[in-house]
Amino acid sequence: MSIIAKQYLSVLERIRHAEQTAGRTADAVKLLAVSKTKPLAMVDEVYQLDQRDFGENYLQDALDKITNCQHQDINWHFIGQIQSNKTRPIAENFSWVHSIDRAKIAHRLSEQRPTSLPPLQCCIQININDEASKGGADSLEDVLSLAEVVNSQDNLVLRGIMAIPEHSNDIEVQRSNFARVKSIFDVVQQHYSSCDTLSMGMSGDLEAAIAEGTTMVRIGTDIFGAR
Ligand SMILES: *Cc1c(COP(=O)(O)O)cnc(C)c1O
Repeated sequence: MSIIAKQYLSVLERIRHAEQTAGRTADAVKLLAVSKTKPLAMVDEVYQLDQRDFGENYLQDALDKITNCQHQDINWHFIGQIQSNKTRPIAENFSWVHSIDRAKIAHRLSEQRPTSLPPLQCCIQININDEASKGGADSLEDVLSLAEVVNSQDNLVLRGIMAIPEHSNDIEVQRSNFARVKSIFDVVQQHYSSCDTLSMGMSGDLEAAIAEGTTMVRIGTDIFGAR
C-alpha cells in the first residue's frame, strides 16, 4: 500500500476513534480531503479508496486538476478566500463553496451558477477569533444576515458554517474556539432547515473539532503530506 493510502486510512481511523470517544454516531463526521497544491495522481490514489469529496484552496491549481480529472463523480469543494472577480469559474466548476464571507460573493455565485448544474452547496465562513488576516463574518448578526442572503438566492443552498480558528496546540483552547463556532451554528440551524454542515477541524485539531460537534473535517497534511 502506498504512503498516501496508509495516511488516508489512518486519518479515517482517527476520525472513527474520535467519534467513539466523543459519543458521536459512527459516520457522523464526513472527511473532506484537502488536495491543494498536490498533484492529480494523489487525488487519484485516494479516490481509489472511495473518497469522493476533495477540497481546494487555490483557484488556478484547482481548475487545472478539475479540467484534467477523469472522475466525473468527485465533489469539488472550494475552501479558499474568494475574490469577487473570480466567482465565475468557482460557480461553474465546484459542487460546494465553504468560504462565503460577504453578500456580494453570494449574489455573484448565484447569478453565475449554470442552471444546468445542481445549486451550489454553500457554507458561510465565520472569523471566530476576529483575525484581520482571515476572511469571514465576525458576529452573530453578520452571520445571520449573510445566511439570509445566501438562503434567498435561487442557485445556492445554505448548508452551514465553516471556520478556521486561530492556531493553537492546546486542546482546551482548540475546544473552546470550536464550541463557540458550534453555538453560532446551532442558532443558524434553528432558522434554516437546509443547514446541516459544520465544517471545522484540520490535521492538527480534528479530535477537538469532533468532540465539539463538527460534521465535516478538512484534512490536507495528514493525508497528502506537508506542503
Ligand atoms: C489547507 C486547508 C486545510 C487543511 O489543513 P491541514 O492542516 O493541511 O490539514 C483545511 N481548511 C482550509 C480552509 C485550508 O486552507
